[in-house]
Amino acid sequence: MKYWNEKKKYIIGIVVVVIFIVSVVGIYIQKYSRENVITYTQFIEWVGEGKVREVELSNNPTLKFKLKSEDNIYVTDNPRIENLKESLLLDHIKVVESNQSTAYTFQYLISTALLIGIFVVVFKNVKKTSGSSMSLKIKPVEADELTTSFKSIAGNEEAKDQVQDVIDFIKSPEKYARLGARMPKGLIFYGPPGTGKTLMAKAVAKEAGVAFFSVSGSDFVQLYVGVGASRVREIFKEARKHGKAVIFIDEIDAIGKKRSANAVNSNDEKDQTLNALLTEMSGFKSDEGIVVIAATNRLDTLDEALLRPGRFDRHIEIGYPDFSAREQIIKLYLKNKPVSEEVSISDLARQTVYFTGAMLENLVNEAAITAANAEHHIITNAHIESAFYTVIAGKEKKDRSNVSELDRRITAFHEAGHALVTKIVAPENSVTKVTIIPSTKGAGGFSMNIPKERMYMTKDELLNRIKISLAGRAAEELIFGKEQITTGASNDIAKASQDIKDYIMKYGMDEDFGLINLQTIVGKEHIDHQSIIDKCRAEIQLLYIETKNIIIAHRNTLDAIAKALLEKETLNEQEIASFFY
Ligand code: ADP
Repeated sequence: MKYWNEKKKYIIGIVVVVIFIVSVVGIYIQKYSRENVITYTQFIEWVGEGKVREVELSNNPTLKFKLKSEDNIYVTDNPRIENLKESLLLDHIKVVESNQSTAYTFQYLISTALLIGIFVVVFKNVKKTSGSSMSLKIKPVEADELTTSFKSIAGNEEAKDQVQDVIDFIKSPEKYARLGARMPKGLIFYGPPGTGKTLMAKAVAKEAGVAFFSVSGSDFVQLYVGVGASRVREIFKEARKHGKAVIFIDEIDAIGKKRSANAVNSNDEKDQTLNALLTEMSGFKSDEGIVVIAATNRLDTLDEALLRPGRFDRHIEIGYPDFSAREQIIKLYLKNKPVSEEVSISDLARQTVYFTGAMLENLVNEAAITAANAEHHIITNAHIESAFYTVIAGKEKKDRSNVSELDRRITAFHEAGHALVTKIVAPENSVTKVTIIPSTKGAGGFSMNIPKERMYMTKDELLNRIKISLAGRAAEELIFGKEQITTGASNDIAKASQDIKDYIMKYGMDEDFGLINLQTIVGKEHIDHQSIIDKCRAEIQLLYIETKNIIIAHRNTLDAIAKALLEKETLNEQEIASFFY
Protein backbone atom coordinates (compact mmCIF):
# COMPACT_ATOMS: atom_id res chain seq x y z
CA MET A 1 0.00 0.00 0.00
CA LYS A 2 2.81 2.36 0.98
CA TYR A 3 4.64 1.36 -2.17
CA TRP A 4 1.59 2.17 -4.29
CA ASN A 5 1.13 5.58 -2.63
CA GLU A 6 4.73 6.54 -3.39
CA LYS A 7 4.33 5.34 -6.96
CA LYS A 8 1.10 7.27 -7.30
CA LYS A 9 2.84 10.52 -6.36
CA TYR A 10 5.60 9.72 -8.82
CA ILE A 11 3.17 9.03 -11.70
CA ILE A 12 1.13 12.16 -10.98
CA GLY A 13 4.39 14.19 -11.07
CA ILE A 14 5.40 12.78 -14.49
CA VAL A 15 1.91 13.33 -15.93
CA VAL A 16 1.83 16.98 -14.76
CA VAL A 17 5.27 17.73 -16.29
CA VAL A 18 4.36 16.05 -19.60
CA ILE A 19 1.02 17.88 -19.85
CA PHE A 20 2.85 21.15 -19.18
CA ILE A 21 5.46 20.55 -21.91
CA VAL A 22 2.82 19.43 -24.45
CA SER A 23 0.68 22.50 -23.73
CA VAL A 24 3.61 24.96 -24.03
CA VAL A 25 4.85 23.41 -27.27
CA GLY A 26 1.28 23.18 -28.64
CA ILE A 27 0.57 26.86 -27.83
CA TYR A 28 3.87 27.88 -29.36
CA ILE A 29 3.24 25.91 -32.55
CA GLN A 30 -0.34 27.16 -32.83
CA LYS A 31 0.74 30.75 -32.33
CA TYR A 32 3.52 30.32 -34.85
CA SER A 33 1.11 28.82 -37.40
CA ARG A 34 -1.63 31.42 -36.88
CA GLU A 35 0.70 34.31 -37.83
CA ASN A 36 1.39 32.84 -41.32
CA VAL A 37 -1.96 31.35 -42.21
CA ILE A 38 -3.38 32.44 -45.52
CA THR A 39 -6.43 31.33 -47.53
CA TYR A 40 -6.15 28.61 -50.16
CA THR A 41 -7.37 31.01 -52.89
CA GLN A 42 -4.53 33.43 -51.99
CA PHE A 43 -2.09 30.49 -52.24
CA ILE A 44 -3.45 29.53 -55.71
CA GLU A 45 -3.20 33.17 -56.76
CA TRP A 46 0.51 33.34 -55.67
CA VAL A 47 1.19 30.05 -57.45
CA GLY A 48 -0.40 31.50 -60.60
CA GLU A 49 1.71 34.66 -60.21
CA GLY A 50 4.86 32.51 -59.92
CA LYS A 51 5.60 33.83 -56.40
CA VAL A 52 5.85 30.44 -54.63
CA ARG A 53 9.32 28.90 -54.29
CA GLU A 54 8.79 25.68 -52.25
CA VAL A 55 5.81 23.64 -50.94
CA GLU A 56 5.92 21.02 -48.21
CA LEU A 57 3.22 18.40 -48.88
CA SER A 58 1.92 16.00 -46.24
CA ASN A 59 -1.23 14.18 -45.22
CA ASN A 60 -1.91 16.79 -42.55
CA PRO A 61 -4.89 19.14 -42.80
CA THR A 62 -2.51 22.00 -43.65
CA LEU A 63 0.42 22.42 -46.03
CA LYS A 64 3.40 24.78 -45.73
CA PHE A 65 5.11 26.84 -48.37
CA LYS A 66 7.76 29.58 -48.85
CA LEU A 67 7.72 32.51 -51.22
CA LYS A 68 10.61 33.34 -53.56
CA SER A 69 10.92 36.79 -52.05
CA GLU A 70 11.26 35.85 -48.35
CA ASP A 71 12.10 32.99 -45.94
CA ASN A 72 8.87 33.04 -43.90
CA ILE A 73 6.88 29.85 -43.74
CA TYR A 74 3.24 30.16 -44.76
CA VAL A 75 0.48 27.73 -43.94
CA THR A 76 -2.72 27.08 -45.86
CA ASP A 77 -5.43 24.42 -46.05
CA ASN A 78 -4.32 21.18 -47.65
CA PRO A 79 -6.95 20.30 -50.33
CA ARG A 80 -5.49 16.77 -50.50
CA ILE A 81 -6.22 16.53 -54.21
CA GLU A 82 -4.49 13.90 -56.29
CA ASN A 83 -2.64 15.98 -58.83
CA LEU A 84 -1.47 18.84 -56.63
CA LYS A 85 2.14 17.70 -56.65
CA GLU A 86 2.21 17.31 -60.44
CA SER A 87 0.66 20.73 -61.09
CA LEU A 88 3.09 22.40 -58.64
CA LEU A 89 6.05 20.72 -60.33
CA LEU A 90 4.76 21.86 -63.75
CA ASP A 91 4.74 25.41 -62.32
CA HIS A 92 8.45 24.94 -61.44
CA ILE A 93 7.83 24.89 -57.70
CA LYS A 94 10.05 22.72 -55.51
CA VAL A 95 7.96 20.07 -53.66
CA VAL A 96 9.13 18.51 -50.39
CA GLU A 97 7.15 15.58 -49.04
CA SER A 98 6.72 15.09 -45.31
CA ASN A 99 4.17 12.76 -43.77
CA GLN A 100 4.19 14.25 -40.31
CA SER A 101 4.45 17.83 -39.27
CA THR A 102 6.89 18.54 -36.46
CA ALA A 103 4.07 19.29 -34.09
CA TYR A 104 2.27 16.04 -34.91
CA THR A 105 5.47 14.05 -34.64
CA PHE A 106 6.23 15.69 -31.34
CA GLN A 107 2.76 15.05 -29.94
CA TYR A 108 2.85 11.48 -31.23
CA LEU A 109 6.18 10.83 -29.55
CA ILE A 110 5.03 12.36 -26.28
CA SER A 111 1.80 10.32 -26.13
CA THR A 112 3.63 7.09 -27.00
CA ALA A 113 6.23 7.78 -24.31
CA LEU A 114 3.47 8.56 -21.84
CA LEU A 115 1.63 5.32 -22.59
CA ILE A 116 4.81 3.24 -22.29
CA GLY A 117 5.64 5.01 -19.01
CA ILE A 118 2.23 4.32 -17.49
CA PHE A 119 2.32 0.70 -18.67
CA VAL A 120 5.77 0.10 -17.14
CA VAL A 121 4.78 1.64 -13.79
CA VAL A 122 1.46 -0.26 -13.59
CA PHE A 123 3.06 -3.55 -14.60
CA LYS A 124 5.81 -3.14 -12.00
CA ASN A 125 3.17 -2.45 -9.39
CA VAL A 126 1.14 -5.54 -10.35
CA LYS A 127 4.26 -7.63 -10.04
CA LYS A 128 5.02 -6.21 -6.61
CA THR A 129 1.49 -6.64 -5.20
CA SER A 130 1.34 -10.26 -4.11
CA GLY A 131 -2.43 -10.48 -3.61
CA SER A 132 -3.05 -9.70 -7.25
CA SER A 133 -4.68 -12.40 -9.36
CA MET A 134 -1.91 -12.12 -11.96
CA SER A 135 0.78 -12.69 -9.42
CA LEU A 136 1.95 -16.15 -8.47
CA LYS A 137 3.55 -15.00 -5.23
CA ILE A 138 1.81 -15.96 -2.03
CA LYS A 139 2.55 -13.93 1.06
CA PRO A 140 2.40 -15.81 4.36
CA VAL A 141 1.33 -14.44 7.73
CA GLU A 142 4.38 -14.63 9.94
CA ALA A 143 4.01 -16.41 13.30
CA ASP A 144 4.31 -13.22 15.34
CA GLU A 145 1.55 -11.57 13.27
CA LEU A 146 -0.87 -14.48 13.86
CA THR A 147 -3.46 -13.67 16.52
CA THR A 148 -5.19 -17.06 16.75
CA SER A 149 -3.78 -19.45 19.32
CA PHE A 150 -5.35 -22.41 21.15
CA LYS A 151 -6.76 -19.89 23.60
CA SER A 152 -8.90 -18.35 20.87
CA ILE A 153 -10.57 -21.71 20.24
CA ALA A 154 -13.26 -22.80 22.66
CA GLY A 155 -14.12 -26.50 22.74
CA ASN A 156 -12.73 -28.70 19.92
CA GLU A 157 -10.67 -30.47 22.59
CA GLU A 158 -10.22 -33.72 20.63
CA ALA A 159 -8.97 -31.85 17.60
CA LYS A 160 -6.55 -29.87 19.76
CA ASP A 161 -5.23 -33.18 21.16
CA GLN A 162 -4.83 -34.63 17.69
CA VAL A 163 -2.72 -31.75 16.42
CA GLN A 164 -0.55 -31.51 19.52
CA ASP A 165 2.11 -33.94 18.27
CA VAL A 166 2.11 -32.29 14.85
CA ILE A 167 2.94 -28.98 16.51
CA ASP A 168 5.70 -30.66 18.47
CA PHE A 169 6.96 -32.25 15.26
CA ILE A 170 7.10 -28.90 13.43
CA LYS A 171 9.05 -27.44 16.35
CA SER A 172 11.59 -30.27 16.54
CA PRO A 173 11.37 -32.64 13.57
CA GLU A 174 14.80 -34.12 14.42
CA LYS A 175 13.34 -35.67 17.58
CA TYR A 176 10.94 -37.74 15.49
CA ALA A 177 13.43 -38.40 12.67
CA ARG A 178 15.90 -39.89 15.20
CA LEU A 179 13.39 -42.56 16.12
CA GLY A 180 12.44 -43.12 12.50
CA ALA A 181 8.91 -41.88 13.14
CA ARG A 182 7.10 -40.68 10.05
CA MET A 183 4.95 -37.70 10.81
CA PRO A 184 1.99 -36.86 8.61
CA LYS A 185 2.89 -34.45 5.84
CA GLY A 186 -0.72 -33.58 5.43
CA LEU A 187 -3.76 -33.26 7.72
CA ILE A 188 -7.36 -32.96 6.67
CA PHE A 189 -9.78 -31.04 8.87
CA TYR A 190 -13.33 -32.00 7.97
CA GLY A 191 -16.67 -30.78 9.24
CA PRO A 192 -19.48 -28.32 8.51
CA PRO A 193 -18.64 -24.75 7.54
CA GLY A 194 -18.07 -22.35 10.43
CA THR A 195 -16.94 -24.96 12.95
CA GLY A 196 -13.42 -23.54 13.26
CA LYS A 197 -11.24 -25.43 10.75
CA THR A 198 -9.43 -22.31 9.55
CA LEU A 199 -9.11 -21.16 13.13
CA MET A 200 -7.48 -24.46 14.13
CA ALA A 201 -5.03 -24.37 11.18
CA LYS A 202 -3.94 -20.87 12.16
CA ALA A 203 -3.57 -21.95 15.77
CA VAL A 204 -1.31 -24.85 14.72
CA ALA A 205 1.01 -22.37 12.96
CA LYS A 206 0.90 -19.96 15.90
CA GLU A 207 1.55 -22.66 18.51
CA ALA A 208 4.41 -24.08 16.43
CA GLY A 209 5.78 -20.57 15.84
CA VAL A 210 5.92 -20.85 12.04
CA ALA A 211 4.58 -18.87 9.07
CA PHE A 212 1.04 -19.53 7.83
CA PHE A 213 0.40 -19.80 4.08
CA SER A 214 -3.25 -19.81 3.13
CA VAL A 215 -4.95 -20.53 -0.20
CA SER A 216 -8.33 -21.78 -1.26
CA GLY A 217 -8.84 -24.71 -3.62
CA SER A 218 -11.22 -22.58 -5.63
CA ASP A 219 -8.44 -20.04 -6.32
CA PHE A 220 -6.71 -22.67 -8.44
CA VAL A 221 -9.57 -23.66 -10.69
CA GLN A 222 -10.51 -20.12 -11.61
CA LEU A 223 -7.10 -19.64 -13.18
CA TYR A 224 -5.95 -20.51 -16.68
CA VAL A 225 -4.75 -24.03 -17.48
CA GLY A 226 -1.30 -24.69 -16.03
CA VAL A 227 -1.37 -21.70 -13.69
CA GLY A 228 -2.90 -23.72 -10.83
CA ALA A 229 -0.04 -26.24 -10.93
CA SER A 230 2.66 -23.59 -11.07
CA ARG A 231 0.97 -21.74 -8.23
CA VAL A 232 1.16 -24.89 -6.09
CA ARG A 233 4.90 -25.17 -6.85
CA GLU A 234 5.34 -21.49 -6.03
CA ILE A 235 3.70 -21.87 -2.60
CA PHE A 236 5.93 -24.80 -1.69
CA LYS A 237 9.01 -22.92 -2.91
CA GLU A 238 8.09 -19.95 -0.74
CA ALA A 239 7.33 -22.20 2.24
CA ARG A 240 10.73 -23.89 1.91
CA LYS A 241 12.38 -20.48 1.88
CA HIS A 242 10.79 -19.94 5.28
CA GLY A 243 12.27 -23.22 6.51
CA LYS A 244 9.23 -24.33 8.45
CA ALA A 245 5.63 -23.49 7.71
CA VAL A 246 1.97 -24.50 7.74
CA ILE A 247 0.35 -24.45 4.31
CA PHE A 248 -3.45 -24.27 4.61
CA ILE A 249 -5.63 -25.22 1.63
CA ASP A 250 -9.27 -24.37 2.27
CA GLU A 251 -12.00 -26.03 0.15
CA ILE A 252 -9.63 -28.78 -1.02
CA ASP A 253 -12.63 -30.41 -2.75
CA ALA A 254 -12.34 -27.80 -5.51
CA ILE A 255 -9.24 -29.64 -6.75
CA GLY A 256 -9.41 -32.93 -4.87
CA LYS A 257 -12.92 -34.28 -5.57
CA LYS A 258 -13.18 -37.93 -6.56
CA ARG A 259 -12.46 -38.23 -10.25
CA SER A 260 -15.54 -39.12 -12.21
CA ALA A 261 -15.64 -42.54 -13.87
CA ASN A 262 -16.94 -40.68 -16.86
CA ALA A 263 -13.89 -39.40 -18.77
CA VAL A 264 -15.89 -36.62 -20.42
CA ASN A 265 -16.20 -34.92 -17.06
CA SER A 266 -12.50 -34.92 -16.29
CA ASN A 267 -11.01 -31.51 -15.83
CA ASP A 268 -7.40 -31.10 -16.94
CA GLU A 269 -6.73 -28.02 -14.87
CA LYS A 270 -7.96 -29.66 -11.66
CA ASP A 271 -5.99 -32.86 -12.34
CA GLN A 272 -2.79 -30.96 -13.10
CA THR A 273 -3.13 -28.91 -9.92
CA LEU A 274 -3.86 -31.97 -7.80
CA ASN A 275 -0.92 -33.86 -9.32
CA ALA A 276 1.37 -30.89 -8.67
CA LEU A 277 0.23 -30.85 -5.04
CA LEU A 278 0.83 -34.59 -4.59
CA THR A 279 4.23 -34.38 -6.28
CA GLU A 280 5.28 -31.48 -4.04
CA MET A 281 4.10 -33.33 -0.95
CA SER A 282 5.98 -36.50 -1.81
CA GLY A 283 9.01 -34.33 -2.62
CA PHE A 284 9.62 -32.81 0.76
CA LYS A 285 11.34 -34.74 3.48
CA SER A 286 9.45 -35.45 6.66
CA ASP A 287 12.08 -33.66 8.75
CA GLU A 288 11.64 -30.37 6.92
CA GLY A 289 8.97 -29.08 9.29
CA ILE A 290 6.41 -28.20 6.65
CA VAL A 291 2.85 -29.42 7.20
CA VAL A 292 -0.01 -29.09 4.76
CA ILE A 293 -3.48 -28.76 6.26
CA ALA A 294 -6.50 -29.09 3.98
CA ALA A 295 -10.08 -28.34 4.93
CA THR A 296 -13.27 -29.79 3.51
CA ASN A 297 -16.91 -30.02 4.47
CA ARG A 298 -17.10 -33.64 3.34
CA LEU A 299 -14.31 -36.17 3.59
CA ASP A 300 -16.19 -38.81 1.58
CA THR A 301 -16.14 -36.75 -1.62
CA LEU A 302 -12.35 -36.56 -1.80
CA ASP A 303 -10.21 -38.51 -4.25
CA GLU A 304 -8.59 -41.54 -2.63
CA ALA A 305 -5.22 -40.54 -4.09
CA LEU A 306 -5.22 -37.63 -1.65
CA LEU A 307 -5.86 -39.76 1.40
CA ARG A 308 -3.10 -42.36 0.93
CA PRO A 309 -0.26 -42.73 3.44
CA GLY A 310 2.43 -40.11 2.91
CA ARG A 311 -0.16 -37.63 1.72
CA PHE A 312 -3.13 -36.37 3.75
CA ASP A 313 -3.12 -39.36 6.05
CA ARG A 314 -4.40 -37.83 9.28
CA HIS A 315 -8.07 -36.94 9.23
CA ILE A 316 -9.39 -34.82 12.05
CA GLU A 317 -13.07 -34.13 12.50
CA ILE A 318 -14.05 -30.63 13.54
CA GLY A 319 -17.79 -31.00 14.01
CA TYR A 320 -20.69 -29.17 15.61
CA PRO A 321 -19.87 -28.07 19.15
CA ASP A 322 -21.61 -30.04 21.90
CA PHE A 323 -23.36 -28.45 24.86
CA SER A 324 -20.24 -27.74 26.88
CA ALA A 325 -18.31 -26.49 23.84
CA ARG A 326 -21.19 -24.15 23.02
CA GLU A 327 -21.11 -22.85 26.59
CA GLN A 328 -17.39 -22.15 26.24
CA ILE A 329 -17.76 -20.45 22.85
CA ILE A 330 -20.58 -18.22 24.13
CA LYS A 331 -18.52 -17.39 27.24
CA LEU A 332 -15.52 -16.55 25.05
CA TYR A 333 -17.47 -14.09 22.93
CA LEU A 334 -19.42 -12.57 25.83
CA LYS A 335 -16.22 -12.12 27.85
CA ASN A 336 -15.58 -8.48 27.04
CA LYS A 337 -19.20 -7.45 26.65
CA PRO A 338 -21.53 -6.03 29.31
CA VAL A 339 -24.24 -8.65 29.89
CA SER A 340 -27.31 -8.53 32.09
CA GLU A 341 -27.49 -11.00 34.98
CA GLU A 342 -30.73 -12.41 33.56
CA VAL A 343 -28.81 -13.93 30.61
CA SER A 344 -28.05 -17.58 31.31
CA ILE A 345 -25.16 -18.94 29.27
CA SER A 346 -26.21 -22.54 29.87
CA ASP A 347 -29.79 -21.81 28.71
CA LEU A 348 -28.37 -20.20 25.62
CA ALA A 349 -26.11 -23.20 25.01
CA ARG A 350 -29.11 -25.51 25.43
CA GLN A 351 -31.11 -23.56 22.87
CA THR A 352 -28.39 -23.61 20.24
CA VAL A 353 -28.12 -27.29 19.28
CA TYR A 354 -26.55 -27.56 15.78
CA PHE A 355 -25.24 -24.01 15.93
CA THR A 356 -21.64 -23.75 14.68
CA GLY A 357 -18.98 -21.63 16.38
CA ALA A 358 -19.42 -19.05 13.62
CA MET A 359 -23.19 -18.88 14.26
CA LEU A 360 -22.64 -18.47 18.00
CA GLU A 361 -20.11 -15.70 17.43
CA ASN A 362 -22.61 -14.08 15.08
CA LEU A 363 -25.44 -14.47 17.61
CA VAL A 364 -23.49 -12.72 20.37
CA ASN A 365 -22.34 -10.00 17.99
CA GLU A 366 -25.87 -9.39 16.67
CA ALA A 367 -27.18 -9.18 20.25
CA ALA A 368 -24.52 -6.53 21.04
CA ILE A 369 -25.44 -4.58 17.88
CA THR A 370 -29.15 -4.74 18.77
CA ALA A 371 -28.41 -3.46 22.29
CA ALA A 372 -26.24 -0.65 20.93
CA ASN A 373 -28.90 0.34 18.36
CA ALA A 374 -31.44 0.55 21.18
CA GLU A 375 -29.03 2.78 23.17
CA HIS A 376 -28.86 0.17 25.97
CA HIS A 377 -25.72 -0.27 28.01
CA ILE A 378 -26.03 -3.99 28.62
CA ILE A 379 -27.09 -7.02 26.56
CA THR A 380 -30.37 -8.50 27.77
CA ASN A 381 -32.41 -11.60 26.91
CA ALA A 382 -34.57 -9.47 24.58
CA HIS A 383 -31.52 -8.50 22.52
CA ILE A 384 -30.45 -12.14 22.32
CA GLU A 385 -33.99 -13.18 21.26
CA SER A 386 -33.91 -10.69 18.43
CA ALA A 387 -30.40 -11.79 17.42
CA PHE A 388 -31.63 -15.40 17.25
CA TYR A 389 -34.08 -14.45 14.58
CA THR A 390 -31.42 -12.58 12.60
CA VAL A 391 -28.94 -15.46 12.72
CA ILE A 392 -31.49 -18.08 11.69
CA ALA A 393 -33.72 -16.28 9.25
CA GLY A 394 -32.16 -12.90 8.49
CA LYS A 395 -33.29 -9.50 9.72
CA GLU A 396 -36.96 -9.04 10.64
CA LYS A 397 -38.77 -7.14 7.92
CA LYS A 398 -39.70 -3.80 9.43
CA ASP A 399 -42.17 -2.73 6.75
CA ARG A 400 -44.85 -5.42 6.73
CA SER A 401 -47.54 -3.26 5.14
CA ASN A 402 -47.45 -5.15 1.87
CA VAL A 403 -48.11 -8.56 3.49
CA SER A 404 -51.72 -9.39 2.67
CA GLU A 405 -54.11 -10.71 5.30
CA LEU A 406 -54.38 -13.97 3.34
CA ASP A 407 -50.57 -14.40 3.36
CA ARG A 408 -50.51 -13.78 7.12
CA ARG A 409 -53.21 -16.42 7.63
CA ILE A 410 -51.39 -18.95 5.43
CA THR A 411 -48.11 -18.36 7.31
CA ALA A 412 -49.89 -18.61 10.67
CA PHE A 413 -51.42 -22.01 9.85
CA HIS A 414 -48.20 -23.22 8.20
CA GLU A 415 -46.06 -22.40 11.26
CA ALA A 416 -48.77 -23.60 13.66
CA GLY A 417 -48.69 -26.91 11.74
CA HIS A 418 -44.94 -27.32 12.36
CA ALA A 419 -45.26 -26.40 16.03
CA LEU A 420 -48.26 -28.69 16.62
CA VAL A 421 -46.76 -31.76 14.95
CA THR A 422 -43.44 -31.22 16.75
CA LYS A 423 -45.18 -31.15 20.12
CA ILE A 424 -47.19 -34.29 19.28
CA VAL A 425 -44.54 -36.54 17.68
CA ALA A 426 -41.42 -35.26 19.46
CA PRO A 427 -42.52 -33.85 22.84
CA GLU A 428 -38.90 -34.10 24.06
CA ASN A 429 -37.91 -31.36 21.56
CA SER A 430 -38.41 -27.79 22.65
CA VAL A 431 -40.27 -25.41 20.40
CA THR A 432 -38.67 -22.20 21.59
CA LYS A 433 -40.15 -19.72 19.21
CA VAL A 434 -42.79 -19.51 16.48
CA THR A 435 -43.23 -16.37 14.45
CA ILE A 436 -45.05 -15.10 11.38
CA ILE A 437 -42.79 -12.06 11.01
CA PRO A 438 -41.26 -12.28 7.54
CA SER A 439 -37.50 -11.88 7.21
CA THR A 440 -35.48 -9.85 4.74
CA LYS A 441 -34.05 -13.15 3.50
CA GLY A 442 -37.47 -14.19 2.20
CA ALA A 443 -38.75 -16.52 4.94
CA GLY A 444 -42.45 -16.00 5.68
CA GLY A 445 -41.92 -16.96 9.31
CA PHE A 446 -40.44 -19.87 11.22
CA SER A 447 -40.93 -22.37 13.96
CA MET A 448 -37.81 -23.01 16.00
CA ASN A 449 -37.58 -26.62 17.00
CA ILE A 450 -34.62 -27.70 19.12
CA PRO A 451 -34.04 -31.45 19.21
CA LYS A 452 -32.60 -33.21 22.26
CA GLU A 453 -28.87 -33.57 21.93
CA ARG A 454 -28.23 -37.20 21.05
CA MET A 455 -25.37 -39.13 19.56
CA TYR A 456 -27.65 -41.14 17.26
CA MET A 457 -31.08 -40.76 15.80
CA THR A 458 -33.49 -43.69 15.86
CA LYS A 459 -35.53 -44.76 12.85
CA ASP A 460 -38.64 -43.40 14.56
CA GLU A 461 -37.01 -40.05 15.26
CA LEU A 462 -35.88 -39.71 11.66
CA LEU A 463 -39.39 -40.46 10.34
CA ASN A 464 -40.87 -38.01 12.85
CA ARG A 465 -38.47 -35.36 11.68
CA ILE A 466 -39.84 -35.83 8.17
CA LYS A 467 -43.40 -35.45 9.52
CA ILE A 468 -42.41 -32.18 11.21
CA SER A 469 -41.00 -30.94 7.89
CA LEU A 470 -44.20 -31.88 6.04
CA ALA A 471 -46.54 -30.39 8.67
CA GLY A 472 -46.51 -26.85 7.24
CA ARG A 473 -47.73 -27.97 3.82
CA ALA A 474 -50.22 -30.41 5.40
CA ALA A 475 -51.79 -27.61 7.46
CA GLU A 476 -52.01 -25.35 4.39
CA GLU A 477 -53.79 -28.08 2.42
CA LEU A 478 -56.25 -28.93 5.20
CA ILE A 479 -57.23 -25.31 5.90
CA PHE A 480 -57.11 -23.68 2.46
CA GLY A 481 -57.70 -26.64 0.12
CA LYS A 482 -55.59 -28.77 -2.26
CA GLU A 483 -55.48 -26.09 -4.95
CA GLN A 484 -54.37 -23.32 -2.58
CA ILE A 485 -51.13 -24.84 -1.32
CA THR A 486 -48.19 -22.42 -1.59
CA THR A 487 -44.50 -22.23 -2.48
CA GLY A 488 -43.76 -21.50 1.20
CA ALA A 489 -42.98 -25.19 1.79
CA SER A 490 -40.04 -25.48 -0.62
CA ASN A 491 -37.31 -25.64 2.05
CA ASP A 492 -39.35 -28.12 4.08
CA ILE A 493 -39.76 -30.38 1.04
CA ALA A 494 -36.02 -30.24 0.33
CA LYS A 495 -35.28 -31.27 3.94
CA ALA A 496 -37.83 -34.10 3.88
CA SER A 497 -36.46 -35.39 0.56
CA GLN A 498 -32.89 -35.42 1.87
CA ASP A 499 -34.00 -37.29 5.01
CA ILE A 500 -35.97 -39.96 3.16
CA LYS A 501 -33.11 -40.45 0.69
CA ASP A 502 -30.64 -40.96 3.56
CA TYR A 503 -33.16 -43.27 5.32
CA ILE A 504 -33.15 -45.57 2.29
CA MET A 505 -29.72 -45.10 0.72
CA LYS A 506 -27.42 -44.37 3.63
CA TYR A 507 -28.82 -45.78 6.85
CA GLY A 508 -30.21 -49.08 5.53
CA MET A 509 -33.49 -48.47 7.39
CA ASP A 510 -35.91 -49.34 4.63
CA GLU A 511 -37.02 -52.96 4.77
CA ASP A 512 -37.49 -53.35 1.02
CA PHE A 513 -34.03 -52.07 0.12
CA GLY A 514 -32.46 -53.66 3.18
CA LEU A 515 -29.17 -53.23 4.93
CA ILE A 516 -27.25 -51.73 2.12
CA ASN A 517 -25.53 -48.44 1.49
CA LEU A 518 -26.74 -47.71 -1.99
CA GLN A 519 -24.32 -44.80 -2.39
CA THR A 520 -21.41 -47.25 -2.29
CA ILE A 521 -22.90 -49.30 -5.08
CA VAL A 522 -24.31 -46.63 -7.34
CA GLY A 523 -22.07 -46.23 -10.37
CA LYS A 524 -20.33 -49.55 -9.79
CA GLU A 525 -23.24 -51.92 -10.23
CA HIS A 526 -26.41 -51.55 -12.16
CA ILE A 527 -28.86 -49.74 -9.94
CA ASP A 528 -32.45 -49.09 -10.81
CA HIS A 529 -32.66 -45.38 -9.99
CA GLN A 530 -36.35 -45.28 -10.82
CA SER A 531 -37.11 -47.84 -8.11
CA ILE A 532 -35.35 -45.65 -5.50
CA ILE A 533 -37.28 -42.57 -6.60
CA ASP A 534 -40.57 -44.52 -6.55
CA LYS A 535 -39.81 -45.81 -3.06
CA CYS A 536 -38.92 -42.33 -1.73
CA ARG A 537 -42.12 -40.93 -3.19
CA ALA A 538 -44.27 -43.71 -1.71
CA GLU A 539 -42.70 -43.35 1.77
CA ILE A 540 -43.10 -39.55 1.77
CA GLN A 541 -46.72 -39.94 0.65
CA LEU A 542 -47.44 -42.29 3.56
CA LEU A 543 -45.78 -39.94 6.04
CA TYR A 544 -47.71 -37.00 4.59
CA ILE A 545 -51.02 -38.79 5.15
CA GLU A 546 -50.01 -39.62 8.74
CA THR A 547 -49.05 -35.96 9.29
CA LYS A 548 -52.42 -34.77 7.99
CA ASN A 549 -54.15 -37.25 10.30
CA ILE A 550 -52.28 -35.85 13.33
CA ILE A 551 -53.38 -32.33 12.39
CA ILE A 552 -57.02 -33.42 11.86
CA ALA A 553 -57.02 -35.09 15.27
CA HIS A 554 -55.72 -31.88 16.92
CA ARG A 555 -57.51 -29.37 14.73
CA ASN A 556 -58.68 -27.23 17.70
CA THR A 557 -55.11 -26.79 18.94
CA LEU A 558 -53.94 -25.87 15.44
CA ASP A 559 -56.65 -23.20 15.17
CA ALA A 560 -55.77 -21.82 18.62
CA ILE A 561 -52.04 -21.54 17.85
CA ALA A 562 -52.74 -19.91 14.46
CA LYS A 563 -55.17 -17.43 16.07
CA ALA A 564 -52.61 -16.51 18.73
CA LEU A 565 -49.95 -16.04 16.03
CA LEU A 566 -52.22 -13.73 14.03
CA GLU A 567 -52.75 -11.64 17.15
CA LYS A 568 -49.24 -11.57 18.59
CA GLU A 569 -47.02 -12.44 15.56
CA THR A 570 -44.50 -14.24 17.82
CA LEU A 571 -45.01 -16.89 20.52
CA ASN A 572 -42.33 -17.95 22.99
CA GLU A 573 -41.64 -21.35 24.52
CA GLN A 574 -44.03 -20.98 27.46
CA GLU A 575 -46.84 -19.62 25.30
CA ILE A 576 -46.54 -22.57 22.92
CA ALA A 577 -46.32 -25.08 25.76
CA SER A 578 -49.55 -23.64 27.25
CA PHE A 579 -51.56 -25.09 24.34
CA PHE A 580 -50.58 -28.61 25.34
CA TYR A 581 -51.28 -28.81 29.09
P1 ADP B 1 -14.41 -23.07 8.98
O1 ADP B 1 -13.01 -22.90 8.49
O2 ADP B 1 -14.66 -24.37 9.65
O3 ADP B 1 -15.47 -22.75 7.97
P2 ADP B 1 -13.70 -20.82 10.61
O4 ADP B 1 -12.47 -21.34 11.26
O5 ADP B 1 -13.49 -19.89 9.46
O6 ADP B 1 -14.65 -22.00 10.14
O7 ADP B 1 -14.60 -20.13 11.73
C1 ADP B 1 -15.36 -18.99 11.47
C2 ADP B 1 -15.51 -18.17 12.73
O8 ADP B 1 -16.32 -18.84 13.69
C3 ADP B 1 -14.21 -17.92 13.45
O9 ADP B 1 -13.55 -16.80 12.96
C4 ADP B 1 -14.64 -17.74 14.88
O10 ADP B 1 -15.10 -16.42 15.09
C5 ADP B 1 -15.85 -18.64 15.00
N1 ADP B 1 -15.57 -19.97 15.59
C6 ADP B 1 -15.82 -21.17 15.02
N2 ADP B 1 -15.50 -22.17 15.85
C7 ADP B 1 -15.01 -21.62 16.97
C8 ADP B 1 -14.49 -22.12 18.20
N3 ADP B 1 -14.42 -23.44 18.45
N4 ADP B 1 -14.08 -21.24 19.13
C9 ADP B 1 -14.13 -19.92 18.91
N5 ADP B 1 -14.62 -19.38 17.78
C10 ADP B 1 -15.05 -20.19 16.81
